[in-house]
Amino acid sequence: MHIKELEFINFKSFGKKVKIPFFDGFTTISGPNGSGKSNIIDGILFVLGLSSSRTLRAEKLTDLIYNGEGSKKPDFAQVTIRFDNVDREMPFDADEISITRKIRETDSGYYSYFYFNGKAVSLTDVHNYLAKARVTPEGYNVVMQGDVTRIINMTPGERRKIIDEIAGVAEFDSKRDRALSE
Ligand code: ATP
Ligand code: MG
Repeated sequence: MHIKELEFINFKSFGKKVKIPFFDGFTTISGPNGSGKSNIIDGILFVLGLSSSRTLRAEKLTDLIYNGEGSKKPDFAQVTIRFDNVDREMPFDADEISITRKIRETDSGYYSYFYFNGKAVSLTDVHNYLAKARVTPEGYNVVMQGDVTRIINMTPGERRKIIDEIAGVAEFDSKRDRALSE
């Protein structure tokens, strides 16, 4: 399973609809400082359901909505990841899987929506689908700045936990802990 395409609407510096293709194998993104390279990674983490806005480099989630030129600020931001699922790594019978997250700002607060292949789902549903393909927002599919140093400085026990997570064992540990506490 790999990312085929990202689509941004009003997310951070992407003021209009922007599609970014990803290739089989390796894709690099280059550009001047401040041109939005890291915002692309933030968009991926946003769709994967990361809820802490700090990791997405914003004070609050609504700061993720495009706030650039023009007098009228849009009231929503939306990001879609299209995965190639030809290998059926995600146990769902479709060659392409799209996951979308949208936040909408209203006078009474903001609302977060998730869609799996166009169908409205909950954040837990998204996490469950992704966990089956061993993708977790806090996991090691995304290596952030400082992660390598942090892993080097860990104790062997802490490093073992990472291996459990990557191997998909940690998911069962947490499910077992939840079952035992019920
Ligand atoms: P560097 O090479 O310095 O790491 P970068 O390409 O990673 O740069 P980003 O950090 O992705 O750049 O983009 C930063 C830009 O995104 C800034 O110019 C900032 O103003 C803009 N930006 C962030 N949030 C918003 C927003 N809500 N609306 C409009 N622009 C935004
Ligand atoms: Mg950057």
